[in-house]
Amino acid sequence: MRRTILSVLAVCLGVLLAAGMEPTAVQAKTRYVTIGTGGITGVYYPTGGAISKIINKKRKEYGIRCTVESTGGSVFNVNAVMSGDLEFGIVQSDRQYQAWKGLAEWKEKGPQKELRAVFSIHPESVTLVAAEDAGIKTIEDLRGKRVNIGNPGSGQRQNSIDALEAAGIDYRKDIIAEQVKAAEAPGLLQDGRIDAFFYTVGHPSGAIKEATAGRRKVRIVPLTTIDALLAKYPYYAPATIPIKFYPGAVNTQDVPTFGVKATFVTSAKVPDDVLYAITKEVFENFDRFKRLHPAYEVLTKKGMLQGLSAPIHPGAMRYYREAGLMK
Ligand code: GLU
Repeated sequence: MRRTILSVLAVCLGVLLAAGMEPTAVQAKTRYVTIGTGGITGVYYPTGGAISKIINKKRKEYGIRCTVESTGGSVFNVNAVMSGDLEFGIVQSDRQYQAWKGLAEWKEKGPQKELRAVFSIHPESVTLVAAEDAGIKTIEDLRGKRVNIGNPGSGQRQNSIDALEAAGIDYRKDIIAEQVKAAEAPGLLQDGRIDAFFYTVGHPSGAIKEATAGRRKVRIVPLTTIDALLAKYPYYAPATIPIKFYPGAVNTQDVPTFGVKATFVTSAKVPDDVLYAITKEVFENFDRFKRLHPAYEVLTKKGMLQGLSAPIHPGAMRYYREAGLMK
């Protein structure tokens, strides 16, 4: 009898303990994922924030906690996702293409076979910002000037090199090329320490606002000699920078250039259910998501499935099929 009472007590205690431990058990199941973005005055950083905000709202349901990291940009993000340091990255569509095929920065390492696409986001345009007093009105005027082409690890570095090359300019010989992060470039331009900088970014962006709002007058330089570029590279498309976002610039009209798309990528190693949850929440809250940044104004659900080169992650694919967005 005594034994029975004792064992009943033991069971009760066990139940109580288990109940008491429940929060710990749930916490242990929380999975932390991090999105690699770019400089904090770019559009990737708030984009990482927007995606996190949407998914973290359902933390109790999915047990996923998403955070954002400021990084050196696209190339850094691909490599960090491939090494497993980050679960997600925002990456230019041209960089996704190159990483998947083993081109540009990935020529020696070869194709990044574990790279997976999730969706594409806002358009980004190659933006050349130059000081008026340096007399730069066309890309050809960059000869002999001090120009920031972008840090290694950024998406824009190769875009700058391609744009210069299309204008017959060798970045190693014909200009003084700086390779600092985009977040530092507006300050350097305003301080007179560089004459111009390239940044591949969505609009409006904090960095371009900062560069155009200072005492030194600046112009966003049209990039119009791009036919050969468009013919040579499948990932470039003509683009226009709306000047309404930058009233401080000397330009009076929208600026023609070329561009790519921001895309959201991950690794094949990240679990399907995490991808399903994130994709579903972004797409099911599409209108709310779109309101989180003015650069998303042009987004459509269909458009978000274009511009992807790596295979779509199966977890994301499950949602697209369910939602009838893909077959
Ligand atoms: N396109 C840039 C890059 O890949 C980043 C732009 C941004 O942070 O918005 O490095």
